[in-house]
Amino acid sequence: MTQIQNIQQLRQQVDYIDDELLQLLKKRGNIVQQIAQIKQKEKLPIQDIEREQQKLTKLVNQHIEPYSKEQIVSLYRLILNQSIDLQNSINGASSDTNSLKVYRTHSQHNTKVRVGDVVFGEEPVYIFGPCAVEDEQQMDTVANVMSQKGLKIIRGGAYKPRTSPYDFQGLGVRGLEILKSVGEKYNLATISEVVDASQVEVAANYLDMFQVGARNMQNFQLLKAIGRTNKPVLLKRGLSATVDEFLHAAEYILNEGNPNVVLCERGIRTYERATRNTLDISSVPIIKRLSHLPIIVDITHSTGRKDIMQEIAKASIAVGSHGLMCEVHPNPPIALSDKNQQLNIDEFKSLYDVIC
Ligand code: PEP
Ligand code: MN
Repeated sequence: MTQIQNIQQLRQQVDYIDDELLQLLKKRGNIVQQIAQIKQKEKLPIQDIEREQQKLTKLVNQHIEPYSKEQIVSLYRLILNQSIDLQNSINGASSDTNSLKVYRTHSQHNTKVRVGDVVFGEEPVYIFGPCAVEDEQQMDTVANVMSQKGLKIIRGGAYKPRTSPYDFQGLGVRGLEILKSVGEKYNLATISEVVDASQVEVAANYLDMFQVGARNMQNFQLLKAIGRTNKPVLLKRGLSATVDEFLHAAEYILNEGNPNVVLCERGIRTYERATRNTLDISSVPIIKRLSHLPIIVDITHSTGRKDIMQEIAKASIAVGSHGLMCEVHPNPPIALSDKNQQLNIDEFKSLYDVIC
């Protein structure tokens, strides 16, 4: 027998074994699905880490030469992960990115999110308001000019995630009270940031829409807590988050049952210092292709520059943004946060006249 014939014969044996392996995998998959059905009925978690560890330990102790322990572990990790996907798919969930709930493949319709009188996902929605709620007078002044312009939603931070612990941290519940009262007075829906899962229940009494800020985009407990409510949420892109990570963060909210998610591109951290962050304008059309969720652009925190805001606002709408967020303060030089980038009332009016 020639060496070539020898290879052919050995390959036949390998093919036979592969067929057997496939049949065994099929059998294994069917059993895994039966287990998933029982877990679903009994409301048991799909993944059982302890069982996986026991299984891997037992397998590696069998010394399956010529494979190393590491090779066996990585082979079985793959099989176990596929089993988890199989089990999840019975519940309509999966770690397979093609079947994420945020993806267009999951929902053919463009999601529309109603907040008071505005609907995200139709005509552009404009969210103005100060960086932080500071006092009644400040909020009243801004709300008043906003309602004169026919706007329907106002922002104002009550819990401020600041770089320095010595900077103004927000008024907390008092800030939410002020925001709610100007909202009622001027018929404006309210949006404000929550920074911890423990705030969600109380804040829900004051707000029409939660905001999850860039620093908390991967605060998974917060995302899950908001996901368990039905209240709309504006989810901002993390400082260094990829589009994929951004969409997975949204998935946490959808996966808990809350479909009312609006995304917000607010710039990402790059080496460029000419702007506060680098506005990733391309993420807007990219996300619109990938996801059915509405997406808006924060022109304040992405640029940190008032002088280019009008152009950036126009560019954002031109690439298909479903709206804009922009900070406005009656007297920016004395603002307790972001004093360099908040528009004063006149600047707000001229931006409004150009874009809205
Ligand atoms: C904000 O909108 O108040 C804010 C802090 O923005 P970001 O989370 O995008 O930095
Ligand atoms: Mn701000």
